[in-house]
Amino acid sequence: MSTKRRTPRGGKTVRRVHQAGRGRCLAILRQLSAYIDDELPATICGELRRHLGGCPNCEEFIASLRHTVTLCRHRPTPSLSASDRADLRQAILRRAAHQKGR
Ligand SMILES: [Zn+2]
Repeated sequence: MSTKRRTPRGGKTVRRVHQAGRGRCLAILRQLSAYIDDELPATICGELRRHLGGCPNCEEFIASLRHTVTLCRHRPTPSLSASDRADLRQAILRRAAHQKGR
């Protein structure tokens, strides 16, 4: 017999990552912009907060999103050079790839 199988002893050792599932995450992300603008009803707001509390990815995302929104408001007409844009895109893609791997 050559079937080697590792069976976890006792309880599960699964990390607590994204228990809510991807679909839930997407739904949350769709509401984030309204959340940032304080346009959400209190009930949904609380729901979002609860998800964010247990989901590092979304928490990080909303932090950077909020930062971006603030920047945009303070500078209505950002003038980016072509190389700036390329750099930004690279940075964003790198970060996205990094988050996916988690
Ligand atoms: Zn999430």
